[in-house]
Amino acid sequence: MPDLHTHSTASDGTLSPAELVARAQAAGVQALALTDHDTLEGLEEAAAEAARRGMRFVPGVEISVTWGGRTVHIVGLRVDAGNAELQQGLAGLRRFRDWRAEEIGRRLERAGYPGLFERARAHSNGRLISRTHFARALVEAGHAETTREVFKRFLVNGKPGHVPGEWADLAQAVGWIRAAGGRAVIAHPARYGFTRSKLRRLIGEFREAGGEAMEVISGSHSRDEVFTMAAHARDSGLLASAGSDYHGPENPWIELGRLPELPAGLRPVWHDWSLNTASTAPSVAV
Ligand code: AMP
Ligand code: MN
Ligand code: MN
Ligand code: MN
Repeated sequence: MPDLHTHSTASDGTLSPAELVARAQAAGVQALALTDHDTLEGLEEAAAEAARRGMRFVPGVEISVTWGGRTVHIVGLRVDAGNAELQQGLAGLRRFRDWRAEEIGRRLERAGYPGLFERARAHSNGRLISRTHFARALVEAGHAETTREVFKRFLVNGKPGHVPGEWADLAQAVGWIRAAGGRAVIAHPARYGFTRSKLRRLIGEFREAGGEAMEVISGSHSRDEVFTMAAHARDSGLLASAGSDYHGPENPWIELGRLPELPAGLRPVWHDWSLNTASTAPSVAV
């Protein structure tokens, strides 16, 4: 099985792009996509390591979108990292991220938790700062036991470190991915807590904008959710994708190389990518 959704230290993962590729190969992953949040920075390193190892690599990205008052993630697969439109779109999102990180720090400070912007920045190694870095910083500072607890107590709507704001527009994000020659995929659709009709509305607008696929298999989907999402993909005619959403070995409940097969009757997002041809040639997926 390919794994078409993973993170590295270029965003909020804990393995470097090269370490991630090595671990995926050891786990038997057939083709790996690196899909960091709002950045293409890790792709060159990952592609070079995959080529060195003769492993199939799919350059990707996970774009933060605001839709229906909520944050939704859109994965782009097989994007051209040299595309200016995609690069500029992502640069705008990172500017918002930079400001938001400082604002999260200020709000936590006002709530009696000082010094967390600096700690979060240290966790990000000078790259983009995600709420995940604040979560690790808050655990490190002893304010919570787990990152999951941090999100609930500090970082979601109504909590002291929550900062509202606008990410990309749905059609815009799909447009950047298409401009870069990529295929757009709705990430972990069961995670948003949408009603059936709201999810259908998202899928409809996504298709209208030129989106082509949705994740049916996701590290964050239960068995039931896989079947519900499979039905949505079949009904809407979207291609089906599969990705662990791996962020590193610290989260032992999500591992590389352990994804179940797609349910029957779905067309895989990789159906025309020739990932299945036996080849020893080092290559980027064609
Ligand atoms: P950001 O894009 O900076 O708002 O951060 C979003 C990231 O935080 C997601 O990609 C997840 O990796 C992580 N995340 C979101 N919600 C949770 C949660 N409840 N528990 C742990 N990690 C979370
Ligand atoms: Mn993440
Ligand atoms: Mn996501
Ligand atoms: Mn992700």
